[in-house]
Amino acid sequence: MDRFFFAPPEAFSPTGHVVLPPDEAKHAVKVLRLRPGATITVVDGQGYAARVQIEQADRQGVHGHVTSEHKNLGEPVHELTVGLALLKQQKRYNLFLEKAVELGVTGIIPLLTERTESRNWREDRARQVMTAALKQCNRSRLPDLHPPTPLHQLLGPGILVADPNTDTALMTAIHQGEGPVRILVGPEGGFTEDECRLAIDSGAELVRLGSRRLRAETAAICCAAAVVLAGESGT
Ligand code: SAM
Repeated sequence: MDRFFFAPPEAFSPTGHVVLPPDEAKHAVKVLRLRPGATITVVDGQGYAARVQIEQADRQGVHGHVTSEHKNLGEPVHELTVGLALLKQQKRYNLFLEKAVELGVTGIIPLLTERTESRNWREDRARQVMTAALKQCNRSRLPDLHPPTPLHQLLGPGILVADPNTDTALMTAIHQGEGPVRILVGPEGGFTEDECRLAIDSGAELVRLGSRRLRAETAAICCAAAVVLAGESGT
């Protein structure tokens, strides 16, 4: 399997030529010691992947020509959006971001809830983590990364809200529906009773992820894995 690199859509010319961004070029030349003639795969993060034969690889940069192209390489069958409340430690959030990309999540929403203790959100760092995971897991489309959004703006019929104090199992809920799935996970302190009541009144469904109390990022990763694997197994 080729080494994967990232280049934005504008790096691909209509004539099938592509120039790697400086940081990607530096990694190719200095770390991987790639030389002209080598073949790599370059993804644009929007579902386009191209096999590229390198023509130049040196301190001036790396560029090459497209030999074959693919649409939606490594992309999942179903749409899945996971909302996870902002967490006190960004590194825990970054763990969720990395696993969400690997698992095939197609949308990510940083949630603002009553018990969200941290409001700091580094979108640039989040995108860096996601892009690195995209290359590592051989995907071609980055999940849509929404801005931090208050919980009440996201509630409504068909929305799943992870809550340990309910009885409906997640796997039961996702079996009932086809099509896009949206699951919301609370912060370290959980959703408040008022938020759970607001969710139910909106037509959303509370779902349980087993009998243990999971860390927020673990719960979000668990939701992603369950939905993606259920979708890909056709169950
Ligand atoms: N004491 C909090 C409560 O009762 O909700 C625990 C919060 S937990 C650390 C953080 C978030 O992860 C929760 O808001 C929920 O969304 C999700 N979560 C953790 N364990 C869960 C479980 N067993 N079932 C459903 N959701 C869970």
